[in-house]
Amino acid sequence: MSEFTTNPVVQSLVALNETTWFNPKKVAFESVQGQLPLQMSDMQDAADRLSRFAPYLALVFPDTAVNHGIIESELKPIPAMQSVLSDLMGADIEGRLLMKCDNQLPIAGSIKARGGIYEVLLHAERLALASGLLREGDDYRTFDSDAFRALFSAHQIVVGSTGNLGLSIGTMSAKLGFKVTVHMSADAREWKKALLESKGVNVVEHTADYSVAVEQGRQEAEQDDSAYFIDDEDSTSLFLGYSVAALRLQKQLNEQGILVDADHPLFVYLPCGVGGAPGGITFGLKQVFGDHVHCFFAEPTHSPCMLLGMETGLHSKIAVQDLGIDNLTCADGLAVGRPSAFVGPMMDQLLSGAYTVSDDNMHRYLTMLADAESIQVEPSATAGLVGVMRLLTSGRDYLKSHQLEDKMPQATHIMWATGGDLVPDEEREAYYSYGKALL
Ligand SMILES: *Cc1c(COP(=O)(O)O)cnc(C)c1O
Repeated sequence: MSEFTTNPVVQSLVALNETTWFNPKKVAFESVQGQLPLQMSDMQDAADRLSRFAPYLALVFPDTAVNHGIIESELKPIPAMQSVLSDLMGADIEGRLLMKCDNQLPIAGSIKARGGIYEVLLHAERLALASGLLREGDDYRTFDSDAFRALFSAHQIVVGSTGNLGLSIGTMSAKLGFKVTVHMSADAREWKKALLESKGVNVVEHTADYSVAVEQGRQEAEQDDSAYFIDDEDSTSLFLGYSVAALRLQKQLNEQGILVDADHPLFVYLPCGVGGAPGGITFGLKQVFGDHVHCFFAEPTHSPCMLLGMETGLHSKIAVQDLGIDNLTCADGLAVGRPSAFVGPMMDQLLSGAYTVSDDNMHRYLTMLADAESIQVEPSATAGLVGVMRLLTSGRDYLKSHQLEDKMPQATHIMWATGGDLVPDEEREAYYSYGKALL
């Protein structure tokens, strides 16, 4: 890896400095759209599948019934936080700052309720169709029956996770009647493991990091013909499940009368772990808004795997540990040392940039958000808050080269809050006071 030691971006990452990076390979969407391995029709297919399952979800998860079984979160302005950030910067943040509240998504309390649940449903649908229990056009409430549970009880679902993906996949799989095993990395919080065990999920604890937990899960699944492994490092199904968020966001922006076009740019800041969630959403948003949307990934200074993979061009062939970065962070949802094998290459020409945030700053922003807006999130979810400041301070060249400088008063910035609703009170209090002490 010595060939990278003179690269100033890599040097900054290795020094654990907060780093802001603009992607030199980004091109006009039109010029790559046709070459992408997935298209709008794939995203639409995923959206249709989620609609078919909506009546079932509304039945078995009552908190999804208000939205008729569509797992979706609110998009809302956070004006008090916007002025706190303006004060911090010493300059007004023009345009609007919105929060996408995936911290409140039903069933899993995190963004993983999108991809994780989607892939479990996809697998269940395939098995049900193959068995003859389900026919095209059936009412999917039939999944809530002994016949379906008996079918699924002969099948196992296996996944490796830092916590939230396990929560989402474990909960959904157990509800359908699958046997399910979640391999949890050392970062996974105790309460996430205990919650899953209470739902009858088999939790295997590892003392190593996420990549090892995933590898163990993969190996275990290979030895069992009835097992299906959900591969967070390389799954297009998970990715497409996340991408549907873009269609939903388009609808929400429309309903709120918020324009996105050449004169009204949209900036989206997405916390990134292995890359599936932010990658899927970026792919979807590009399909919907093309060059009018600008997507940025946010990572912990101790786990900058996607930024490292993209800057070096090595993607999943390099891990942060190869350069001596420890992958130890309070942001458990983002504690990933090696990025997804296919997300980075797909983001190469789509992503606008990425930046890193220190653990202390994630705690500070968590506390500021709680004070300003009375919104409680987990540390990972705050990483998106920094994006607008980074863009406005370090992104002058980016804005200039995209002819955006005079359009910023009409801009919309969305910080994607990715998790937090299921965090127990004591833990929440501890995050808050940690951040308070730093302010
Ligand atoms: C998983 C997760 C992310 C990032 O998703 P990836 O698919 O791992 O990139 C962000 N925030 C939280 C809270 C998460 O659990």
